[in-house]
Amino acid sequence: MDDNAPKAEDTVHTVEVAVVGAGFSGLGMGARLKQAGIDDFVLLERAMDVGGTWRDNSYPGATCDIPSILYSFSFFPNPRWSRSFSTQPEIHDYLRRSVDVFGLGPHLRLRHKVREAAWDESAARWKIRVTSPLGDTVYRARFLVSATGPLSLPAVPDLPGLAEFRGPVFHSSRWNHEFDLAGRKVAVIGTGASAIQVVPAIQPQVARLDLYQRTPPWVISRHDRTLTRTEHELYSRLPALQQLVRQALFWSRESYVLGFVGGHVRIRKALQALALRHLSRSVADPELRERLTPDFAFGCKRVLLSNDYYPAVAAANVGLITDGIAEVGADTVVSRDGTERRTDAIVLCTGFRTTDPPMAHGISGRGGQRLSEAWAKGMRAHQGVMVSGFPNLFFTIGPNSGLPHSSMTLVIEAQIRYAVDCIAQMRDHSIADIEVLPQTEAAYNARLQRRMSDSVWTTGGCSSWYLDPRTGTNTTLWPDYTWRFQRMNRTFSPAGHRARTLGRLRV
Ligand code: NAP
Repeated sequence: MDDNAPKAEDTVHTVEVAVVGAGFSGLGMGARLKQAGIDDFVLLERAMDVGGTWRDNSYPGATCDIPSILYSFSFFPNPRWSRSFSTQPEIHDYLRRSVDVFGLGPHLRLRHKVREAAWDESAARWKIRVTSPLGDTVYRARFLVSATGPLSLPAVPDLPGLAEFRGPVFHSSRWNHEFDLAGRKVAVIGTGASAIQVVPAIQPQVARLDLYQRTPPWVISRHDRTLTRTEHELYSRLPALQQLVRQALFWSRESYVLGFVGGHVRIRKALQALALRHLSRSVADPELRERLTPDFAFGCKRVLLSNDYYPAVAAANVGLITDGIAEVGADTVVSRDGTERRTDAIVLCTGFRTTDPPMAHGISGRGGQRLSEAWAKGMRAHQGVMVSGFPNLFFTIGPNSGLPHSSMTLVIEAQIRYAVDCIAQMRDHSIADIEVLPQTEAAYNARLQRRMSDSVWTTGGCSSWYLDPRTGTNTTLWPDYTWRFQRMNRTFSPAGHRARTLGRLRV
């Protein structure tokens, strides 16, 4: 029996497009579908609220490290960002407002967790099994959009004894707001993008903060400021002015690419020197400075922006522990040199599982092939959007779509545009399903990996979440300028794809 066939007790809904996720990608997709006149869609969201990563990452100090005028939808500018780099509540609020502005409320299905999705070749439809408070439901959709985000599944370190720790243990993206850290001894594990925001935010309240660092990151200063009332007024009255500022931010960010790909070592060294100056200005103690100095090339891991991280690490109640963690006791963390440190709570700023996404295990394409099987040697897609063997499936922030230097909203919008254009062309030409050919996908990825080969992420001497641990290949980042990504995804081109017309279907 077909496992995916609806059972008698399942409610079955038929829609044209099912979008999984209601963060930046899902909401953006919803807005653009509506603007394209496609109204028959649902946004399936497992949580009780929209916002994706900006809902989940509510840790103290959570702020975007990309300026908000750039880190927002081009079609939904906000003239009233309070700061140049907005905080999580403000970005979450912006996303919530997008629901009303674009009329997405009736399309939202909150607390609807997608368990699996299978392609039904004969009907040219996706069958999507969903668990909701009302019971199990099946959606039959012509198109499936995976907008689940690459940074949604916490990576929890496999530390001996962690499960037996008596106090609270929580990940930065699952912050325990019930537990008051004031006056406590807190261990923070990890020194990536999340940790450098958490540490300065909690350091003034805690009695003691032990920061467990495995690899010191490159940190540069952040030029943040409050946006004035005059700016708000000007941006409200003259949207073109805000557009101009957005363009200036866009191009200044593009210049970073020179330091990351194409072997421009001198540019990278100049940026590295800036970061070292920032470190030496912020930390007086030479021994601490030494331990905070990275030993890999600038840009190999995400470059972090902070003015308050180094001062917080240098504060009297903070200890930087670089010996590694041997084990966790009932109320201690024990480092490899044998030192036991009393600990009331452990905060895991240990990042996310990025290269083997959980949704890939629940999606079956043509012939029942699981996406996780297709990706057994690493994620790959055509232009980060379509995967051979998986018709009518579109990704936002799919494989090799990440930008380490600029706003992910730019990538999201480009991929949405491509997918919506593809759907519109299919409607115009009565196409039932479309799929990228394996050779098209392979040629695209060969070109992409050639471009990647001299990048700092590959040659910079570090390990990072950008690389697939199974192969060492970078399957997460786009190794080029953002404008090239945008140009590539401006319109859908059917060349190199296989299509079936509605007339040839036995529905
Ligand atoms: P991350 O950058 O992957 O950092 C994880 C940290 O945990 C690293 O320092 C890592 O050390 C450490 N770690 C992992 N396992 C460990 C273990 N077993 N023992 C000791 N240390 C361990 O994760 P993240 O900070 O959550 O950031 C992930 C991504 O989220 C960022 O790269 C960025 O794209 C995004 N983000 C963005 C913002 C923003 O402002 N826009 C803010 C936060 C996060 P190693 O370096 O040695 O592996």
